[in-house]
Amino acid sequence: MSTDCLFCQISQGKMSTQFLYEDDIIVVFKDINPMAPVHLLLVPKEHIRSINDLEPDQASIISHMFMKAKEMAKEQGINESGYRLFFNVEKGGGQEVFHLHLHLIGGWKEGRK
Ligand code: 5GP
Ligand code: ZN
Repeated sequence: MSTDCLFCQISQGKMSTQFLYEDDIIVVFKDINPMAPVHLLLVPKEHIRSINDLEPDQASIISHMFMKAKEMAKEQGINESGYRLFFNVEKGGGQEVFHLHLHLIGGWKEGRK
């Protein structure tokens, strides 16, 4: 864990951020600046900077994140209407917080704008 990393702080429960889900591997919380009616972040507790830094023995973290994203979409009632899952990778890819996270966005009334 890195003390100057925001998502390390959040995922270790050091901030007041409410978790929608938590286990030994990940936490899920609402994005502070949502770009859609539903905007969740799925964040591993382990500090990994981005997909570029993912090691082979960490691959199971990613599959766990996707399986949980699918469940969270259902829990949020957007599984049938549809949603987007994405990772921003490094600055050119739009990454602003350099601790791996999967975005789950959806809930538009008339489809994605
Ligand atoms: P990135 O651009 O790195 O892929 O996404 C970072 C996301 O984290 C952004 O959508 C931003 O709104 C969100 N975010 C940044 N700081 C905080 C925070 O302190 N709390 C929460 N819940 N979300 C944050
Ligand atoms: Zn971190």
